[in-house]
Amino acid sequence: MPTRVSATNSLEIPFNRPTLVGKELGYIADAIIRGQASGDGAYTKKCQVLLEQAMGGARVFLTTSCTDALEMAALLLDFQPGDEVIVPSFTFVSTVNAFVLRGARPVFVDVRPDTLNLDEEKLESLITAHTRAIVPVHYAGVGCELDSIMEIAGRHGIAVVEDNAHGVFGRYRGKPLGSFGDLATLSFHETKNFTCGEGGALIVNNPERIERAEIIWDKGTNRSRFFRGEVDKYTWVDVGSSFLPSDILAAFLFAQLEARDEIQCKRKRVWDYYYRHLWNLAHKYGIVLPTVPPHCEQSYHMFYILLQDLSERQALIAHLKSRGILAIFHYMPLHLSLMGVKFGGKPGDCPVTESVSDRLLRLPFHNELTESDQARVIGAIVEFFDKMKHIGGRKNSELLESISR
Ligand SMILES: *Cc1c(COP(=O)(O)O)cnc(C)c1O
Repeated sequence: MPTRVSATNSLEIPFNRPTLVGKELGYIADAIIRGQASGDGAYTKKCQVLLEQAMGGARVFLTTSCTDALEMAALLLDFQPGDEVIVPSFTFVSTVNAFVLRGARPVFVDVRPDTLNLDEEKLESLITAHTRAIVPVHYAGVGCELDSIMEIAGRHGIAVVEDNAHGVFGRYRGKPLGSFGDLATLSFHETKNFTCGEGGALIVNNPERIERAEIIWDKGTNRSRFFRGEVDKYTWVDVGSSFLPSDILAAFLFAQLEARDEIQCKRKRVWDYYYRHLWNLAHKYGIVLPTVPPHCEQSYHMFYILLQDLSERQALIAHLKSRGILAIFHYMPLHLSLMGVKFGGKPGDCPVTESVSDRLLRLPFHNELTESDQARVIGAIVEFFDKMKHIGGRKNSELLESISR
């Protein structure tokens, strides 16, 4: 049985590759032999306890995805039609869809040009009598300015739901990301630091919300209280759904979470290598590297660069592809999407989002990415910019296109 997926088996360098750390398949077999493959089994509890300890005492509920955890959050906060939720435009669609499903109106806030996180200075002017929640997304696992966000939310009596899909084990001023908001969500999708293919978690930091979270999590029943012997039968007590992942998935995930130091150490090495080797080139080629403020311990979720404009970014993607390297862009502004426009979004609403969305490029990044593959990525970037210099500089889309052929 293979304990490790081998690194590159072809000349192609993929953007992402899910990797085994060792014990996943053994734990899956154990989950089945124990006789509970459905949800809320032994491995679900192990994952939850591990995450609760890492979060400093919150209650954690494993879910089938981060999307589901966000939907649980919207149910828990009792979102009603007409309520407003403030979300960054620069995020994944689930951050906002979960609330829109409950009839909420999304209010899009722009991001800061340095960390690409929700711009806390733009927050206050967007708050109305209908605002029920703010959903900061810790982009690339670098914490949002939580001091300001929590202060503003507290002053207005608005809930904070941290979408911490990128930032598991990251910290802001020494405190774990995901431990600040009333609620927070995690993702264990295959593109995230820790994975079971599809998975997630809801973190409940506000103790008053735990009991109802447990009910919503388990199909609107008080079955968990029944299993603890607190009631003599279980019944339908509230709305809810099936948010529990199978214990087979939890078994896979537990092996990954147990190996968190090893995984994070590998990811840090990959991130540091890119940063170190692009540092000198960044100024020369006009590339912008990620900003990680000193009070933020990042989670090493991804490595991105910002190019001059859309045509340069697209030409570089094509050039890298021609060298067998898969680098990809990221979020399209949600306020300009088909749905976003229906909610009144228009060009110019979030100018930083609109600009970085065109210019951002994510480089290949996974646990087993080798230094020699990373050197190939850097070499191909150098080749791109050197060729461009030869044919007369940037900002000419036709020339840029000809490079990548
Ligand atoms: C990946 C991601 C999600 C959704 O996670 P799933 O587990 O795939 O549902 C939500 N928000 C952000 C910011 C993400 O990156």
